[in-house]
Amino acid sequence: MNLATTPSTTTASEALFERARAVTPGGVNSPVRAFTAVGGTPRFITSASGAWLTDADGNDYVDLICSWGPMLLGHAHPDVQAAVAGAVARGTSYGTPTEPEVELAEEIVARTPVELVRFVSSGTEATMSAIRLARGATGRDIVVKFAGCYHGHVDPLLAQAGSGVATLAVPGTSGVPVSSTADTLVLPYNDREAVLAAFESDGPRIACLITEAVPGNMGVVPPAPGFNAFLAETCRAHGALFISDEVMTGFRATAQGGWGLDGAIEGWTPDLMTFGKVMGGGFPAAAFGGRADLMAHLAPEGSVYQAGTLSGNPVATTAGLATLRLATPEVYEHLDATAHTIRTAVSETLEAASVPHTVQTAGTMFSVFFREESVRDFAEASQQDTAAYAAFFHSMLDHGVYLPPSAYEAWFVSAAHDDRAISTIIDALPAAALAAAT
Ligand code: PLP
Repeated sequence: MNLATTPSTTTASEALFERARAVTPGGVNSPVRAFTAVGGTPRFITSASGAWLTDADGNDYVDLICSWGPMLLGHAHPDVQAAVAGAVARGTSYGTPTEPEVELAEEIVARTPVELVRFVSSGTEATMSAIRLARGATGRDIVVKFAGCYHGHVDPLLAQAGSGVATLAVPGTSGVPVSSTADTLVLPYNDREAVLAAFESDGPRIACLITEAVPGNMGVVPPAPGFNAFLAETCRAHGALFISDEVMTGFRATAQGGWGLDGAIEGWTPDLMTFGKVMGGGFPAAAFGGRADLMAHLAPEGSVYQAGTLSGNPVATTAGLATLRLATPEVYEHLDATAHTIRTAVSETLEAASVPHTVQTAGTMFSVFFREESVRDFAEASQQDTAAYAAFFHSMLDHGVYLPPSAYEAWFVSAAHDDRAISTIIDALPAAALAAAT
């Protein structure tokens, strides 16, 4: 093992990045993988095992990205590998119904309040399909979302907020026609007044409100106590549907996802939910689900069309099923304890180096904001010292810890993060805190 310490050799990654940029925009197939926000060259990973990534230069890193959430059990879990190998040996796609789809749907129904589930291949497809279903079922057009919540690269959901005010949105990226976001209303997160005002003025035209169960895409920003219940109730009062996006939090924040932190305790359920990441066990699988009467609007039973050549793919659903079956209460206890140890160490070390920061948590998920005050919405998340994060990030990377290359992302741990992984992180922290302080 060649644990990366300053200066580590990265020539193989640099050469691969050079080749990648010649054939792929920005050299990456998803923008978050680039080091745009922190500078430098993304590491090209050649293998992964447990809590560790190995790059093309032979450097090992403790992985705190976990493929942006999916790898709940760690990399290359032997039982998941065996299940996948068995599925591959039986053929990789049939275009017919299969038993693993039924079993995975049963597992999701058992863990969440949804009654019926439809599989797709990405979280983007899940949220896109859920809002189409909501529009079809209600006969209304407007979709309400929150600034800083990411729901995949769905045209109408790529709208950004006007400065803290409920406005009809303009597209947040080029390539999205104004007409695609004309019926998207973007509100500041955790702002009950803005929600009430939007429903007051546009209630009869609102098809649905979509929110991350716990936002993790502006860093982790928990809902204020009762906020999700308030959203569910406000939607119900106005005949709109409440969609809880659990693509990131599902089977990750708790065994019951973000819903396990509030809805399961308070006794309310979303009308529709979306899932992805963990339920695919590292393969392209995602889903949306909800009340049976709503899901009945989908083709072939209903008039809302939705389809996919590889939806419910037997290899992907086998990997997801194996992952969820292995995600026992003990696994979540381990994730909780591991996340607690890491965030406490990070906070104490930053404190000792007088680096302003705040750590925010949702079940096993957490993130570190480089600002003193707690963060309630996207506007506040944006007010942090991203240069300090970049310095912190690079020092951690040089000492063998791969963090998300952006200050606006959640940090993920896995069941495979053991004492060795944790002590590597703890050993790396003092130098990173000093780097962030200067
Ligand atoms: N919804 C949420 C909450 C997400 O975090 C993501 C991706 O990070 C998506 C939807 C989109 O999922 P995918 O990247 O699989 O399309």
